[in-house]
Amino acid sequence: MRFSPSIRRCLLPISILILSICPPVPAQQRQAQQMDEDFAKSVKEWTTRPEFISPLVDHLPKVAGVPSPKDALGYHIGTPKKLTRTAEIYKYYRELASKSPRVKVINIGQTDEGRECLVVVVANEETVKNIDTYRGYLAHLGDPRKMTEAQAQEVIARAKPIYHLIGGLHSGETGPPEMLMELTYRLAVEDSPIINTIRDNVIVTITPVAEPDGRDRYVDWYYRHKIDETGEQDSMGGPPYWGKYIFHDNNRDINYSQVTMRNLLEWYLQWRPPIMHDLHESVPFLYTFSGQSPQQPALDPILYGELPWFSNFEMSQMIKYGMPGVWTHGFVDMWSPGYLAFMSSNHNGMIRMYETFGNGGANTMKRKVAPPEGAGQTSREWYRPSPPYKEVEWSMRNNTNFMETGVLSALQLTSQFPKVVLENFYKKSRNSIEDGKMNAPYGFIIPTQANMTGVQFVVNTLRLQGIEVGRLTGEVKLKEGSFPADSFVIKRDQPYGRLAKILLEKQNFPDQNLRTYDDTGWTMGLTTNTPVVEIADKAILNAPVAPVDRLEIKGEMKGGQGAAAYAIGNHGSNNLITLRFRLKDLKVQANELSFKSGDAEVPAGSLIVAANQPDAYNKVKAAVESLGLTAIALTSMPATPMHEVDMPRLAIYSTWGNTQEVGWVRHAFDKFEVDYDLIYKERVLQSKGQGNLRDAYDVIVIPNQGRSAKGLVFDREPARKPLAYTKSDQFKSHGMYGESEDITGGMGLKGALEFQRFVEAGGLLVTLGHASFFPPEFGLARKIEAGRPSPQFYAPGPIVEAEILQPSHPIFYGYAQKMIPVRYANGPLLTVPERDREQQVLMRFPGSDKSVLSGLMRGVAETRNRPAIVDVPTGEGRVILFATNPCYRWQNHGEFAMLFNTILHHNDIKTIEKKPAQNAEVK
Ligand SMILES: [Zn+2]
Repeated sequence: MRFSPSIRRCLLPISILILSICPPVPAQQRQAQQMDEDFAKSVKEWTTRPEFISPLVDHLPKVAGVPSPKDALGYHIGTPKKLTRTAEIYKYYRELASKSPRVKVINIGQTDEGRECLVVVVANEETVKNIDTYRGYLAHLGDPRKMTEAQAQEVIARAKPIYHLIGGLHSGETGPPEMLMELTYRLAVEDSPIINTIRDNVIVTITPVAEPDGRDRYVDWYYRHKIDETGEQDSMGGPPYWGKYIFHDNNRDINYSQVTMRNLLEWYLQWRPPIMHDLHESVPFLYTFSGQSPQQPALDPILYGELPWFSNFEMSQMIKYGMPGVWTHGFVDMWSPGYLAFMSSNHNGMIRMYETFGNGGANTMKRKVAPPEGAGQTSREWYRPSPPYKEVEWSMRNNTNFMETGVLSALQLTSQFPKVVLENFYKKSRNSIEDGKMNAPYGFIIPTQANMTGVQFVVNTLRLQGIEVGRLTGEVKLKEGSFPADSFVIKRDQPYGRLAKILLEKQNFPDQNLRTYDDTGWTMGLTTNTPVVEIADKAILNAPVAPVDRLEIKGEMKGGQGAAAYAIGNHGSNNLITLRFRLKDLKVQANELSFKSGDAEVPAGSLIVAANQPDAYNKVKAAVESLGLTAIALTSMPATPMHEVDMPRLAIYSTWGNTQEVGWVRHAFDKFEVDYDLIYKERVLQSKGQGNLRDAYDVIVIPNQGRSAKGLVFDREPARKPLAYTKSDQFKSHGMYGESEDITGGMGLKGALEFQRFVEAGGLLVTLGHASFFPPEFGLARKIEAGRPSPQFYAPGPIVEAEILQPSHPIFYGYAQKMIPVRYANGPLLTVPERDREQQVLMRFPGSDKSVLSGLMRGVAETRNRPAIVDVPTGEGRVILFATNPCYRWQNHGEFAMLFNTILHHNDIKTIEKKPAQNAEVK
């Protein structure tokens, strides 16, 4: 880095830290600025109780030439029955930016459906004008390796913290995108001590709508079906989709698979805001996150001091203004690193989060806040000294008042201590590097291995998060062994060394008695079935490496055009299914046993393409090279038994009520170029009971959805009127990914019967996770029992060992080991009759303490010897039940291949020879 001479000379006086605390906007100081009387009157009217507003938000300045939200939208923020679509929101910010030098709009990419992703900057004129300079200061503080301590202090003296706000990540939480428009306007124009100090000392950046596709779909749904709701009793629920694939899981996308989430991460790594604040809606009246246990111990302890510092300040300010129901500490924890805004704490910044009470729209309604029994979140606790009311009439404007007052208080605190925030950010970045030099593990090594596309996924996912990865330029010898050149090395003495540790190490959940909000285990090497070696030898820090930007594995065609056939080796790469679909015009076979060709071992389940097909050489070459696979030329067709890998006619079945886990499977199939139809009850029940699923499909996958078989079959309860999800001029975002005149009611018993007919006529039905309750309970696999664990059992997404019992079954092609790591999915505890176990149980859970590889499973013995995958011949077809979910959130890539194999070899799955039952171990 370079410092200009002026920076070297200029150390800001320490007095900037000792600014006096400002009183809340005294009326006489506002007199100079004209206020919007209509705003004050309207807001007072829409606020359902006098204590639900604060002196920070009960007024709005009117400034000639600068448009307020009402000037642009035609209504004030918080107007009953008004929600704003993304295009109008963006139009407002752009109008504001065109009139105010204090506001700037930045495009950061596009969504799946082609909407823009924006970030808005608001600060004083000087800051906005020199925004790239300020951005540069934060880049230095975020990676202080080339700075001395003194230089860092010089940068801190010049820099300003960025405070980033996110609204609209969850589309049903409709308030934040509205509130943020008013906040931005207020920050741009208001002349008051609090706002002036914020504007001068802080750079506020805003994601106006974090999920633009979902926002528009939800707003359309609101105007179509929810505008007449009067209360909880007549709620029409939400639309079947938010974004293209997922709902709330956009806040669980640990590998940033979704393009909209990835846009924000890329922006984050360029701007490095020390604080990122995600605005949600759920609990009453305003919950401000303070990072309760279980806490991720790898993160800097400074963070755990900062979190309650902010949340307690907000709580005390709002209580001072007379606002009830503001609390902290008791909701969501600091364990999983996978929440979207955790990108900040994962990168040495600070995650902040609110839950504000909301009505799922803009209707004012009576709400029961306490549960029927007990006080729930209305009890008085040490962290909730002024609890929410047990019943309340709630409005959109209340939501705006609470959230905006909270955010302004957080910005006020930041503006009073900007240098402390910057110093902490710098110190956490510095500590991350130092921690990697002082504490084991000092690094991780990913050896080159047979399945290099798995390595590619791990390396590129780490790179996406800004983690530095190197490739050994020569062999290194460490206590853990010697590693050849080309092995991948992640050293811990880097700014994001803590994050590398969090993602790659085993998760040791701290206390069996604690509960957590999401997954307890995510160890990347285990979820992807990619060996990663943890290194406790400090010498790793000096290993010679060449930096890896993005890893592209180039596949190889070994041998020329004169061959008899090409064998694409199956070493577990998920790309084999992509290859099959890319070669759909060619006949492709699979060898059922491994064989040798020269020195090369061709594992069972490799893909064999006879060379005498039109343009076979060029097609195979193009596919393997781009997919990172290796093909070898065979001088003759192999003599081992083979079967044809027929193109499957494939469907995914989705309920209308639970599309998210289906969405993750769709996303994986789309990414791996697997062709499928997405079908709903409408297709299953087509033509008055003549669904004829078997005429159209060879394989139907029912992803994990609903909580039970009943939920899968009967789905959403009918509402007081049909809930249409059809495209129209008025509701353009509807009818995407499927259309229905009424999404309620489910497929019912008639639908279950159609699935039975499908299987009996020779179809293959594949059920994942919870969907595996369906075949046993609705007669498609009636000899199987599907049970549930005891109430004491608790398994929030641990990674456990599973044992392959039938290694030659096509489902396990490419898996070299007998024991593999799988994510435990809380699917059914299956029981297979003893006489069928040896034939039908393909994989089981050993269920011992040592088989929990990462994360928490309380009551592991309940899973002991329970089937993990069952293959049940039924009629002419079969049902394959996964108690696991082999396609979970773009995370367990090490399990995807079992699902892909099932699809590829759908009509070549044979039941093993029946022998007298002897394996009584399996339940
Ligand atoms: Zn939310």
